[in-house]
Amino acid sequence: MLETKEYAPQRAEMIEKQLRRRGISDAAVLAAMLAVPRHQFVPEELRSRAYEDAPLPIGGGQTISQPYIVAAMTSVLRLQPGDRVLEIGTGCGFQAAVLSHLAREVFTIELRPELASAASEKLARLGYHNVHVHCGDGTLGLPEFAPFDGILVAAAAPEVPEPLLTQLAETGRLIIPVGDADNQELQLVEKHAGVFSTKMLEGCRFVPLVGHHGWQKPPLR
Ligand code: SAH
Repeated sequence: MLETKEYAPQRAEMIEKQLRRRGISDAAVLAAMLAVPRHQFVPEELRSRAYEDAPLPIGGGQTISQPYIVAAMTSVLRLQPGDRVLEIGTGCGFQAAVLSHLAREVFTIELRPELASAASEKLARLGYHNVHVHCGDGTLGLPEFAPFDGILVAAAAPEVPEPLLTQLAETGRLIIPVGDADNQELQLVEKHAGVFSTKMLEGCRFVPLVGHHGWQKPPLR
C-alpha cells in the first residue's frame, strides 16, 4: 500500500478525538485508520473535509460512513490476519481499504456499477491488492467464496439477509445496521458451533440496503 504524508496531522487528530476518546482501543484498527488516506476516497471537491466527524456524499445519493462508525464496526469483527472478510456496499472503497489492513482477503460487493468500477480502480491504484470488488446484489453474498470469518454490511437492512448467515464461518461475526429509513441499530451476530447469537450495539443511520433480501425499493422517509 502506498504511504502518504498528506493530511497526516488531520488523520492523527481524527484518531485521537473521534476514535480513541469515544472508546475505540484496538491498536490494529487504530493503525489501519491512521494508514488509509481517507481524502483519496472522497470526491475531489470534498478532500479538505475528509477527516471531519461526519459522513460525506460520494455520488448517486450514497455516502462514505463517518470515521467513528467505520472503526466501531471494524473493531467488533475482531479480525485476525488470516481472516477472509466480506463487505456489502463498497461505496467509494474506504471501508474495504481499512479491512484490507486487518484481514488476509477482502471481498466487497457494490450494487451500483459506476461506484464498483471507480472503487475497484482506486483500490488497485493505491495498492490494496487483497481487495476484490464485485458488482451485484450483496444481499445474496458470494456463495462461491464462502465461508467468511467476518461480514460487514454497510447499508441498512430491514432484517439480516439469510444468505449472509449461511455464508458465515463456524466462528464468524456479522455486523449489520437493521431498521427503517430513519432509525437503525447495529446488530452483531456471532456463530458458535452452528448457533447464532445476536447483540444490539448502538444506534446509527445508513443508506438503504436495496435488493433481494433487502428493501425491494428504498424505504419511504
Ligand atoms: N462502505 C462504503 C459506504 C457504503 S454506502 C464506503 O466506505 O464508502 C452503502 C453502499 O451500499 C452504497 O454504495 C450502495 O450503492 C450500496 N448498496 C445498497 N444496496 C446494496 C446491495 N444489495 N448490494 C451491494 N451494495 C449495495
